[in-house]
Amino acid sequence: MKHRSVEILEELIRIPSVNPHFNSGGCGEQKISEYIEQRCLRSGLKVTRQQVFPGRDNLIIELRTGKPDMALLFEAHMDTVAFGSMVNPLVPTYLEERLYGRGACDTKACLGAMIYAMEECAKHPENLSCDLILCASVDEEHAYRGLMAFMELDIPIVGAVVGETTEMGIVVAHKGCVRFAVHTHGKAAHSSIATNGNNAIYQMVKIIRYITEQMEPALATRSHPLCGSPSVVVGTIRGGEQINIVPESCSIEVDWRIIPGEDPVEVMKWIRTSLGQAMEGEGVDFTIEQLLLDYPLNTPFDSLVVQHAQSICGQLNLSDSPIGVPYGSDASKLQQLKRIPSIVFGPGSVAQAHSKEEWVPVKDVQLAAEFYVKLAQSFGKPLA
Ligand SMILES: [Zn+2]
Repeated sequence: MKHRSVEILEELIRIPSVNPHFNSGGCGEQKISEYIEQRCLRSGLKVTRQQVFPGRDNLIIELRTGKPDMALLFEAHMDTVAFGSMVNPLVPTYLEERLYGRGACDTKACLGAMIYAMEECAKHPENLSCDLILCASVDEEHAYRGLMAFMELDIPIVGAVVGETTEMGIVVAHKGCVRFAVHTHGKAAHSSIATNGNNAIYQMVKIIRYITEQMEPALATRSHPLCGSPSVVVGTIRGGEQINIVPESCSIEVDWRIIPGEDPVEVMKWIRTSLGQAMEGEGVDFTIEQLLLDYPLNTPFDSLVVQHAQSICGQLNLSDSPIGVPYGSDASKLQQLKRIPSIVFGPGSVAQAHSKEEWVPVKDVQLAAEFYVKLAQSFGKPLA
């Protein structure tokens, strides 16, 4: 018989919730939020909408048991990336114990398993020693503005589990990022009299060489035991207009991944200063445009939520060693900005997220659902 968490996942896959930021004209999270709202209301849960953008609301689902100072938060985003070249993205398809569909692993499996956990706990609230909150958020795939809006509510929370694909590992650390663009400014001229111009692409070559030959090798000297070293990738380059014109502008976009212990604001400042100093006297006229700063996750091992998660993983025959991953999640904002000890936990692998073949192991969906239920039932009680 199919586990109810898997049935919920099937329903979630059928409802498109592509982030409208993606150029395919994504429909957003409204439809899926209506489905979740109706489901949770039927289970007697309290559901509140929080508008983040017009037609795009976070859902805050609460099971209050009279322990607001021991509240546990589940959080999972409702949006997905675009369908891309995925075949039948909205049709839940089973193949060799895997369930395929857009969002199957990122992160509808977690969302479905968390909804299941809320429903199960609502049947017997007397078994809980904590209040339970599920935030089904919007916009994680673009700029995590749903979670930022939720945090503005300042709801007291003692521990949080963010639902993202971790292959059922307890993630306590992950990288953050500093994304920025560099623009070089030259002077256009007819290419037959190139000396009248100033080539913005040649200027950019100096910037890129400095990033790849000086900055990148130095990153290897820093390392975090669970996340490894910071990294940097120049991801895009655009420059020049026409083959016979000296280019007057060139731009690159850079994705710099930072490790726990590093602060994105400080790293951005340091990058500005270093590039500024290195390009002095090099004839490079450039500006830096900050695009996105994101925090790394660094949750203390002795946090209540980590310890309870370890105990439940032990009971479910899963590895109970806290781990680190290179990709980011909403957990880092909860932990760094609100000091809420947070872990990331969920079925599936990041290798399948955002890809043409997105799937999740069916048995892990069920196991994750059991994990969330058990965690909710143990949180606030003495450790088993
Ligand atoms: Zn995700």
